[in-house]
Amino acid sequence: MAKAKKNRAFEFLGETVAPGERKVIELEAAKLYTHSPLSIPVEIINGKLAGPTLMVNAAIHGDELNGVEIVRQLINTIDVNKLKGTLIAVPIVNVFGFIHKSRYLPDRRDLNRCFPGSEKGSLASRMAHTFFSQVAKRCDYILDLHTGAIHRTNLPQIRADLSNPETLRIAQAFATPVTVDAPLRDGSLRSEAERLGIPVLTYEAGEALRFEPICISAGFIGVQRVMQAIGMLRASRKKLPNTVIAKSTSWLRAESDGILRTLVTLGEKVDKGQVLAYISAPLGHSEIELTARKGGIVIGQQTLPLVNEGDAIFHLAYFEEDDDEVEQVVEDFIEEIIDADLEPLTTGQINTHN
Ligand SMILES: [Zn+2]
Repeated sequence: MAKAKKNRAFEFLGETVAPGERKVIELEAAKLYTHSPLSIPVEIINGKLAGPTLMVNAAIHGDELNGVEIVRQLINTIDVNKLKGTLIAVPIVNVFGFIHKSRYLPDRRDLNRCFPGSEKGSLASRMAHTFFSQVAKRCDYILDLHTGAIHRTNLPQIRADLSNPETLRIAQAFATPVTVDAPLRDGSLRSEAERLGIPVLTYEAGEALRFEPICISAGFIGVQRVMQAIGMLRASRKKLPNTVIAKSTSWLRAESDGILRTLVTLGEKVDKGQVLAYISAPLGHSEIELTARKGGIVIGQQTLPLVNEGDAIFHLAYFEEDDDEVEQVVEDFIEEIIDADLEPLTTGQINTHN
């Protein structure tokens, strides 16, 4: 085997991180009304050996917390002497939203619609610009960690532009049971970085404002698998688990206002015409059924039992493969995560709030 090349120093915001060194550097994001500076903590872990630059970031939506814990676990396990390349770990991008337990920024903008941003724009746009130009553009790969929005939960899944073969390859390495070939959405970190040719995966798992052990462990394992696939960590001999690519997805919306009782959970197979939930008046009269229009797998759902007509209740994914097979892939996946028995796994099931 050829001897691995030595890494170079990584220059970041005027600081130098030598090969084999790790450093926490504050990226100044904005100022508060009080003139106190608000900064994004960034940890640069510069491997002794040469390799790609990968950013793993979380909480672009400030209330999406599972990824914050994934990043913490990841940086605690990296051995800088064995790492090839540079890991840029950013546990909290939207520091404003994080402080307020909110998805948004104080100007009520969604940071993940503001990339690549502009130096002279609104607060959100400036922050996007700083983060995009100083951090994202430096990367060869990006793993962007998300959860469902508030009162919504997602089956662990990768969303990515699979028309980029390298993005497809790392999505298969991450190996969540379901992968969604998601179109690029203007202004998102994923779209704008993909446009520059940087492969980006969006990992979606669980619900906002929670720590969910299965989602955290699955993300932690997936990130490590990607790092193996791109040569940053030593490859494992273990065969990658299956991931099934969804042909399409759609939301099933509430057809009336009322109280929701859900009959299915994440990862479950549903048949065309199957009743997935009831929506009723408080006393249970005038109940309506919410039925699947097509057979598929539940990959996201509302957890709050109070709904208005038109609310998106179930996110269903549709496959070329037989739905029983896909359901089996999900079951195998959850078993694998439980068997891996990682910190801080305490419960045996994804919290589906059924
Ligand atoms: Zn998000």
